[in-house]
Amino acid sequence: MADEIDNLMDEETYQKFKKLGRGSWGKDLLMWKAMYNAALTRFKDEEYTPFVEFMLNVFLDLPKARKEGKPVIMHPFNYGPELFFSMDLSPLMQEIFSVGLAPFHLNEPYIDYTNKIGYGDNPTLCNAQRPLIGTYLQGAAPIPDLLFFLSTPCNSLAMTYQVFQKLTEIPMFNMDIPYWAYDDQESEFYDEKTMEYMIKQIKDQISWLEKVSNQKLDLDRLQATMKLVNESREYVLEFNELLKTVPCPVNSLMGFGNFFAMVSRGGHQDGVNLTKWLRDNAAENVKNGIAGVPDEKLRIAWPYTHVFFDQDLFPWLEETFNANVIMDILGYYQVLPHDTSTIEKCYESLAMGTLDFSMIGTCRGPIEYYIDYVLNFVRDYKIDAVVMPMQFACKHAYSMARVASEAIREELGTPVLIFGCDPYDSREVTSDAIRDRLSEFITQVVL
Ligand code: SF4
Repeated sequence: MADEIDNLMDEETYQKFKKLGRGSWGKDLLMWKAMYNAALTRFKDEEYTPFVEFMLNVFLDLPKARKEGKPVIMHPFNYGPELFFSMDLSPLMQEIFSVGLAPFHLNEPYIDYTNKIGYGDNPTLCNAQRPLIGTYLQGAAPIPDLLFFLSTPCNSLAMTYQVFQKLTEIPMFNMDIPYWAYDDQESEFYDEKTMEYMIKQIKDQISWLEKVSNQKLDLDRLQATMKLVNESREYVLEFNELLKTVPCPVNSLMGFGNFFAMVSRGGHQDGVNLTKWLRDNAAENVKNGIAGVPDEKLRIAWPYTHVFFDQDLFPWLEETFNANVIMDILGYYQVLPHDTSTIEKCYESLAMGTLDFSMIGTCRGPIEYYIDYVLNFVRDYKIDAVVMPMQFACKHAYSMARVASEAIREELGTPVLIFGCDPYDSREVTSDAIRDRLSEFITQVVL
């Protein structure tokens, strides 16, 4: 309830953001503008935090870039944008759009339209990106100047971006993500060619960016941008350590702020500010013995994505069961700082950061990468239960979930719930059905 929150957005700030959102943003940004206004309305009744401010500014940056004539480069949710910032491009993490529509159910008419025109269906292609095609064909999707995407974490994502490129004919660079390990020479999965292959692609990517943006990469600027990433990564790594505290010092949604900072503003001062605030907040709470969820009783690992259409699910878990969702697969960002000592080290670090990014590091190779990741987390963070919402379209995760759950039960004895739902479409498995499933699991299996 709004009147229970101490720190609401004040009227002056609200009016400031309202004013910034006025005027024409361009025809293809009508939906983007509607999302900004919907977010502003929602945030008005929530605690006003640096995360709220950060989010609103991310929306505003797109019309601003247009006004300033800065090329906009679209990229997916599993890639950090520092290289783009260092070349003065304006990065747009696409899923802010296609997934950002889900909490307001604004994606659902476009999912239906995409079904109607025959571009896949949910068991085949993921609704995280699929609405991009429907929105584009109905003139509602932002149209960038450049497009960059990866072959991982899924064929679904790569397919939708390819189709988007064919429809728009925007200049595109696609990076192929190799399967094998690069860091541990003792590992049975190690292949020395992994790093060589990635560095070559990073260099090709830079050549492409130079060509399409008509400028040379400034190496000093690249190093400076990577140093900003490092500041953020240090804060995130400290934050991750603080999450081990019992009770956990932050609530279930805070960690996602780190992912957001790194994927949309890694290499920008805004990203540094947000990750610092998240770290400071967690550290202060640990110092003062404050729990993110009062009277914490359950610590949940959620090694998959949020149920994006239901933003109230985690607060409901907190209130109903005093349960804190300590991690999700995106929010638990664990990429190490760059080595910026020489330019060759910069290339190597960019390659490593790409291979280790949230969801890429765990989903790009043998199933052991994912199983070890979850087992280590459950062990290190004193987890009581593991929950994985799962959808057919996410074929790699679908097949990993069952094997991983058996490993967790056998090795650690921790209960696991896998339940079916489409995290982007509220109509397939409803919020009520999800709550029933979680209640049953927690009361009958975990407690
Ligand atoms: S949820 Fe799975 S299928 Fe959908 S975009 Fe993410 S990795 Fe791909």
